[in-house]
Amino acid sequence: MPLLARTITTPLAVEVHAGALSHLGTLLADRRISAGGEVAVVVGPGVGKAAAERLRDGLSRAEIITITAGRHSDALELADKLRSRNFDAVVGIGGGRVIDTVKYASFRQGLPMVSVATSLANDGIASPVASLDRDGHSISYGAHIPIAVIVDLDFVRQAPIRQLRSGVGDALSNLSATADWQLSHDVTGEPIDGLAMALSRSSAEAVLRHPGELTDDDFLTSLADALILGGTAMAVAGTSLPCSGACHEIAHAVQENHPDAATHGEQVGVGALFATHLRGDSRMFEAMAATMKRHALPRTPGDIGLSVDEFTAAVAYAPRTRPGRYTILEHLNLDGSALRARITDFVDDLN
Ligand SMILES: [Zn+2]
Repeated sequence: MPLLARTITTPLAVEVHAGALSHLGTLLADRRISAGGEVAVVVGPGVGKAAAERLRDGLSRAEIITITAGRHSDALELADKLRSRNFDAVVGIGGGRVIDTVKYASFRQGLPMVSVATSLANDGIASPVASLDRDGHSISYGAHIPIAVIVDLDFVRQAPIRQLRSGVGDALSNLSATADWQLSHDVTGEPIDGLAMALSRSSAEAVLRHPGELTDDDFLTSLADALILGGTAMAVAGTSLPCSGACHEIAHAVQENHPDAATHGEQVGVGALFATHLRGDSRMFEAMAATMKRHALPRTPGDIGLSVDEFTAAVAYAPRTRPGRYTILEHLNLDGSALRARITDFVDDLN
């Protein structure tokens, strides 16, 4: 009997638990990523430093590099530094901005990257995408998926609560993104990948239905799993569609016009909730609205400091942030006044 299957690229190792970081040296050796510990350990100015200190005993040959993170130029600067020695791999320790900067710099240098997340603010921890600022715009660059992903709950538990809420927003947005992907498939014939869809949707459903509190280890594990599987879904599909639809178009538009309005995860959460309302999926809308309320995520334009008019302008502009993408926004193609009416309905339904 022929067993036909495809080969997919995923991290060699994924560890999500308290104390995971202390295994890093062993993991690098066991997985043949670096037998002698010749690695660059890259940290931001924040919590990564404390984490890197913990590694010193197990990784005495590592070079610790502190960077400023988040901009395309930061990644290029780091890529230059990585040329100075023959590293086996690069370990990025920190939040989303550090991880994305290290991911892109390692990719440019052709070095494997180990992602050590100290917060769970977005799905960049395991994705093949690096979001970096360039000339005032947030741009998504393709990169290699991390070779290993480590989430140490001892650090994540100490992350600011707002970062964890952001992670919940990014995870829940997959429920809206997969609905957009299905819509695009039905209407435009966009190819769909059932495995990527299943990974993204089922892991987001687990976060949606999880009864735990934001700081419970079992909830954080479910959240970490969802963000990692969302990243894996993008690698499986070869596109960000399993995790990015109207929710992300709206977030990119809000980000461009009101850069200080909210975090990425907060913006995509509001975007996903509004897109779900637009889609008329009342069961999903009520479930998402309840979960977001329970974890104190922003839900309305007002919650992220935008007036209805400002949010209307952002949503009207949203399709231009990702030309060629087909989501509920392009599908309905509402004009300004129709859009404003739908946004007013949306806000009313939440009050
Ligand atoms: Zn996202």
